[in-house]
Amino acid sequence: MNSNSQVPSVNISQQGDSLDEIVSKFATSVDGLKTINNLTNDILDLDQLLQIPIPTLPDGAYSKSNTGPAVKTLQSILVSYGFNLSVDGIYGSKTAGVIIQLQQKFPPIKVDGIYGPQTKASLQTLIDTHFHLVAHPTDKLVLVNRVNGLPAEYVPPDLVVVTVPFTFQEYDPKKQMRKEAALALEQLFSTAKQNNLSLMAVSGYRSYERQAQIYARNIQISPTKAQFSAPPGSSEHQTGLAIDVSSASNNYQLSQSFAATPEGQWLAQTAPAFGYIIRYQVGKETITGYQAEPWHLRYVGIGVAQIITQQGLTLEEYLQ
Ligand SMILES: [Zn+2]
Repeated sequence: MNSNSQVPSVNISQQGDSLDEIVSKFATSVDGLKTINNLTNDILDLDQLLQIPIPTLPDGAYSKSNTGPAVKTLQSILVSYGFNLSVDGIYGSKTAGVIIQLQQKFPPIKVDGIYGPQTKASLQTLIDTHFHLVAHPTDKLVLVNRVNGLPAEYVPPDLVVVTVPFTFQEYDPKKQMRKEAALALEQLFSTAKQNNLSLMAVSGYRSYERQAQIYARNIQISPTKAQFSAPPGSSEHQTGLAIDVSSASNNYQLSQSFAATPEGQWLAQTAPAFGYIIRYQVGKETITGYQAEPWHLRYVGIGVAQIITQQGLTLEEYLQ
């Protein structure tokens, strides 16, 4: 903890709130919490008043081979947001790698792995929005959005090429999805075909790096696109559980008009029976953080997909 630490307090409102949860919510450390509150174990009582030491981001510029307490503070904040790093006060390649990941979320700032005023400001906006890396990226119900990000190094363990018609012929990594999602999509597409509807897949799995390129390009074309485009780590396509689909009736485009095509309407009705939801709905933009996308399917499994659809929920609302 540095001398700039503020000491707010929080009232524990839910029984069973653990120190780990408090730590992740407030970017503090278990040791810091225990020390400041004289705690002896990790389980908290209902209505317990806790003081939360929140370290502030260091000023100045730091890069590879710098060492010291400011680097340690920076590392401890990064760790509390879920980044995989040892808090040793040495600005090594791992620390630089995490800084690069963060910088990729904020084009057009320079992606150089050096922590300076611009990177500090960007990191502060993540902290202010309670951004956090997801702890269990392989979970079928993993929540990925603007504030719940995937680690850059996460690649789904069971990617397979989905055997459905795509809008292009050649192999591309975006023809992949996780195995269970791929099987369900194949069944969904063949059922569509039996109903004389011809769905076309456009884009499935997308790596962190690929999303970083797409995001940087979108921001370059138009900064206002940040509202519609996903920063790297915040795209569901990196989970391998999401896919964009279109149809000849919509000229194979990913656009709002897809919702009104026979394929778009059939999908909205039928996809849940195969474990898929239309993830981004009209009127839910402030909850999901993204505009409506009638073409974006997310696999969650049949039971959950049916509950979410019947009750008109978002995945965010369902998981709450
Ligand atoms: Zn999509």
